[in-house]
Amino acid sequence: MAVPIVTKLEVREFTFDLKNVGTEPTISIPIYEPGHTLHARRMALRIYTDQGIVGEYVGGSKTEYSAIPMFVRAVIGKSALARETIYNDAKQALRQHARMGMSQVDMALWDIAGKYYEAPIYELLGEYRKTMPCYASTYVGDRQRDGLSSAEAYADFAEQCYEMGYRAYKIHPWEDATLEEQIAVVEAVGKRMAGKMDLMLDPFCAYKTFADALKVGRACDAWGYYWYEDPFRDGGVSAFAHRKLRQLIKTPILQLEHVRGLEPHVDFIVAEGTDFVRIDQDYDGGITGVMKISHAAEGFGLDVEPHGPGPSRRHCMAATRNSNYYEMGLVHPKVPTFGGTIYTDGYADQIDSIDKNGHVAVPEKPGMGVTIDWKYIEGHTVDKAVYE
Ligand SMILES: [Mg+2]
Repeated sequence: MAVPIVTKLEVREFTFDLKNVGTEPTISIPIYEPGHTLHARRMALRIYTDQGIVGEYVGGSKTEYSAIPMFVRAVIGKSALARETIYNDAKQALRQHARMGMSQVDMALWDIAGKYYEAPIYELLGEYRKTMPCYASTYVGDRQRDGLSSAEAYADFAEQCYEMGYRAYKIHPWEDATLEEQIAVVEAVGKRMAGKMDLMLDPFCAYKTFADALKVGRACDAWGYYWYEDPFRDGGVSAFAHRKLRQLIKTPILQLEHVRGLEPHVDFIVAEGTDFVRIDQDYDGGITGVMKISHAAEGFGLDVEPHGPGPSRRHCMAATRNSNYYEMGLVHPKVPTFGGTIYTDGYADQIDSIDKNGHVAVPEKPGMGVTIDWKYIEGHTVDKAVYE
């Protein structure tokens, strides 16, 4: 059978509403806010081929897609199966543009490959497992009476997640809390759940100084936290600072969410800046880029941990030995996971999407293995770009 040739790319920006959600004022990430409706936006991509196979992907930010004109000539008219060529050509074309947009294109190309070979992506990558254990990854803390507004509220929610089947729990604390509050939440959740759940802490680079990161890290040490992620305002990119932090605390560090792509990941590992290796299909060059990093980390004996949920994360993790947990989130006691309803086949990444063992399954249909609700997306499109 002849190879499918890419004829056209179509990008859509669409809206969805989230009730009782607002945005954190400083860093504009979603936060629980009763009575408020967040008019949020998401992105969708379709890659058309001359054989009628269409590659589909929902995810990534508008900023990512804004770079597509910089490399679209490396995609249109090319074999949709030539992912390695397109990855390398796009990487070169985007060298001054933070390599944005190539990840989403790569994932739609993997969807095409799966449909062409009539196999789910994880089988093309090489099956290792069919289900993955999840950690409940919380919303950022709020100041609502019935929300994640106190150290005890985080501990109560951890217990609730444990009862649902989760055996791991990650705290995203407050953006604006005092150091005392930041330490109190580590202690409250540790005291309640240490030994029952693997506990993680991700302050999303909120702490102002290295000294603050060190103090909270020592609180993590006292309760045996599983990992400590992106603690302070270097923005998660200083290999030197995190090597120093690793020398001063016992808790394993997880870095590299904010460092993009294969070579910088390897440099950071060689500089001894992290214990766990963060990977993100939307930041690191798609499934192609993430699998390169996963295998590079495997060669160093390290584990890769995928950022955020989604079908692409499930496929890669199902084809990777050196990975521990799927990030289910963001979860909250009162509001659903950010993202809206976008699949019509029951696929979801909600707090109750796990089985009784706290696992999720890899999709089994060809390609990404999910059915996207294009009727909804087309009906809620606010911006569209076509490249042909
Ligand atoms: Mg993070």
